[in-house]
Amino acid sequence: MEKFKNKVWLSSPTVHSEEIKYITKALEDNWVSTVGENIDEIERLACEKVGCKYSVALGCGTAALHMAIKLAGVKEGDTVFCSDMTFAATVNPVVYEKALPVFIDTEYDTWNMDPVALERAFELYPDTKVIVLVDLYGTPAKMDEICAIADKHGAVIIEDAAESFGATYKGKPSGSFGAYNVISFNGNKIITGSSGGMLLTDDEKAAKKVQKWSTQSRENANWYQHEEIGYNYRISNIIAAIIRGQFPHLEEHIAQKKAIYERYKEGFKGLPVSMNPFDEENSVPNYWLSCMIIDEDAMCEQVRDALTTQYKTEKGKSCPDEILEKIENANAQGRPIWKPMHMQPIYSKYDMVTRENATVNVGEDIFQRGLCLPSDNKMTPEEQDKIIQIVRDCFN
Ligand SMILES: *Cc1c(COP(=O)(O)O)cnc(C)c1O
Repeated sequence: MEKFKNKVWLSSPTVHSEEIKYITKALEDNWVSTVGENIDEIERLACEKVGCKYSVALGCGTAALHMAIKLAGVKEGDTVFCSDMTFAATVNPVVYEKALPVFIDTEYDTWNMDPVALERAFELYPDTKVIVLVDLYGTPAKMDEICAIADKHGAVIIEDAAESFGATYKGKPSGSFGAYNVISFNGNKIITGSSGGMLLTDDEKAAKKVQKWSTQSRENANWYQHEEIGYNYRISNIIAAIIRGQFPHLEEHIAQKKAIYERYKEGFKGLPVSMNPFDEENSVPNYWLSCMIIDEDAMCEQVRDALTTQYKTEKGKSCPDEILEKIENANAQGRPIWKPMHMQPIYSKYDMVTRENATVNVGEDIFQRGLCLPSDNKMTPEEQDKIIQIVRDCFN
């Protein structure tokens, strides 16, 4: 297979023509700090899109998650239920506050937090008051079940919608299910400012607190007066200019990502693999990343230790690391499934809750058999067909 001349990325920024206009205007007007009309405008646009009352634009999604953890009142020694199969940014802020994450296993229907395991976690840790829930790869979690369990136990949900901005569940936008919700404008997300994030909420007091905390918690006095600990988390008006220019293209990006997902799905027909699943009846993903999982009986041997991997090729079978190697050799970028948090050395000391009598850890299984495919919205159909052929060849 010949190599792609231009690298095919997993998910790279796609810039249009509006961004530079807003950046130039901000520079011309000398509005280059952490206040300005671009910030006001992206906050308004995000509220409109997600249907929430307040939003606070911050330097990154991780900062927004940190603010959400503080808003939820998480204190040292508290247990917090967290999605296990996610990016570490979902969980790190829990530990910034010296709380104890308890990882909840994944389910196969959406690759998100398993409500059955969550219910069991409340039996084991009945005092838990906060759940941090991710919508992985742009696919909404089982919201009805999870919200009902949270309500029953009086727990607050923080929805990490960093990857799922623009997705919906039963018509309700991703990023509107928790008391405090987070989106990200990191360079690889569905729309980007190169960086940036946002906290979304319907709670006016909460939004005011984040405005204050994120600008060093200055009190209303002539001099710098501080009664609470502060953070320098506010977004720049220049970054906000880029995000503002990206907003009109959100739906277009989603449509491109959807077409990529569907082309893979069609292209893999007949192979012992399936795409990352979603609840087709109730949810509309934003299709941020297209992923696949190999049927158990079509897996060749693949052994991973902490940092390296080995696999044995076998006729008619393959494994993620063989496919990823072949994709990389063709000058394209795939990635393993986000390695579950309980498997991370930094997080292995915390508890992990699966279903009762579970015979497999679902996150471990998806990590072992799944991978993220090149999902860049600038990838051409011809380039994608080559990727599909590479995957097909792995099963010869
Ligand atoms: C990207 C991401 C974040 C963090 O967002 P940043 O803006 O990069 O800080 C948090 N959670 C998930 C699931 C993400 O993918």
